[in-house]
Amino acid sequence: MTDAKRRALHLLHAELDACTACPNMIRPVVHGPAVVSRVLLVGQAPGPREGSFGRPFAWTAGKTMFGWFEGALGIGEEALRERVYIAAVARCFPGKAKGGGDRKPDPAEISRCRGFLEREVAILQPDLVLPIGALAIEQITGHKGKLVDIVGTLRRCRYHGREVDVIALPHPSGASTWHRTAPGKPLLEAALTLLARHPAMQASLVA
Ligand code: SF4
Repeated sequence: MTDAKRRALHLLHAELDACTACPNMIRPVVHGPAVVSRVLLVGQAPGPREGSFGRPFAWTAGKTMFGWFEGALGIGEEALRERVYIAAVARCFPGKAKGGGDRKPDPAEISRCRGFLEREVAILQPDLVLPIGALAIEQITGHKGKLVDIVGTLRRCRYHGREVDVIALPHPSGASTWHRTAPGKPLLEAALTLLARHPAMQASLVA
């Protein structure tokens, strides 16, 4: 079963690599390896550096995020990448926003890329989903409110036809201070405690 899932993920990745559906997105497509895991992490979109590294969360935001996981789970970046499937709302770099920072994927881009996520959920059948940042949180839980109302909680959601637990995390962007000051800092710590105790995460750590 694991081999079949891995093969299905490789086929999906080949389709992703060839995708040119969004005219305003900047290729290459960025995705992680075909990790068969019950834990699915969903980011927003790659930044400007990820394409050259060929993997998601490869730059400063990733360093911060993997640091959070190392503190909570006791495993480093490479071990985490081997145990959690890393996806995103959009898989290409959207370019820079006019006001600075990275542009958010627009609704049409999100919609075009959604089919890949849908298929990843069907293949992996995750029990735990970790949306990273407000856009991914909204896409997965429907929550459009403040981060303080969702980070630090465990939600039960229906995601692409599957009942999953959701632990939302803030975006680890260096531009954001939310996760470094109260009330964000203790809420992030609460979320990471929930993550470390979750049976799907624990099972991934011993697999
Ligand atoms: S963002 Fe997704 S749908 Fe759009 S071109 Fe990239 S891989 Fe294709």
